[in-house]
Amino acid sequence: MAKDMEYQQLIHASKWLRLRKLILTRTPLCQRCLAEGRTTAATEVHHIRPVEEAIAFNDKQQRMYDQTNLQALCHDCHVRTHTELGRSGRKATKKRNEKQVKQIIKKFFDGERGEDRGPIF
Ligand SMILES: [Zn+2]
Repeated sequence: MAKDMEYQQLIHASKWLRLRKLILTRTPLCQRCLAEGRTTAATEVHHIRPVEEAIAFNDKQQRMYDQTNLQALCHDCHVRTHTELGRSGRKATKKRNEKQVKQIIKKFFDGERGEDRGPIF
């Protein structure tokens, strides 16, 4: 789907790869491990406000490259953070897609449907 392609485009852009490297250089330790009293090297950069949940491409871009939206994590903490937020797995993806579809439908159909026609879905 187009949404995922936009995400893929952003995550593979050299701009992101450079920023990711910058964050990991500047924040070499996993922030969550640090908060929990462990010292672990950060290997991944987490987006606090999820890029894939933004609807407009502009918003995606903004979230992707906003340094205040980024957090250096180790792989385990990254996976754990996503699991806790319910963002990983097929169930979360399905739920997110349904939410996006509803928002798009609302955007395009609100105000265009006559009272007499009743719900489409
Ligand atoms: Zn960690």
